Amino acid sequence: MTDDDLLPLLRTRYPALLDDPALREIACLPGWLDLLNELCKTLALYLREHPEIEPLKVVRIKEKWGGLRFHYNGGDDLCRRTVDAAQNSSLTICEICGAAGLLGGLRYLTVRCSLHAELPPDEDPEGESGYTFIQE
Ligand SMILES: [Zn+2]
Repeated sequence: MTDDDLLPLLRTRYPALLDDPALREIACLPGWLDLLNELCKTLALYLREHPEIEPLKVVRIKEKWGGLRFHYNGGDDLCRRTVDAAQNSSLTICEICGAAGLLGGLRYLTVRCSLHAELPPDEDPEGESGYTFIQE
């Protein structure tokens, strides 16, 4: 286990959401920790206020095609919209550091800020990395 493993931290904060044994890891980088924390906090508060809703159990959290994927069972329509919004937000948040980022990449899609793009803007004048940062 490394410091990059977000699961132990979030599982301690949101045990009811994240206690499914199928959830073994959070397969994304720490830049999305705040996003995941806000999402879990919103879901946990909502579910606590609405005990009639089927409990939401997260079974997988990972990155795919550059974006966050948050798979779960249970919940309701509002949970679904909340998760959808967070998944959309992930497309503008650097997965490494949490700064504002863009979806791009040479080998596969990732969201990176100008600092963490595979080619920094000054070495990528043609925008070949796919991250078209505005140059100062
Ligand atoms: Zn970054």
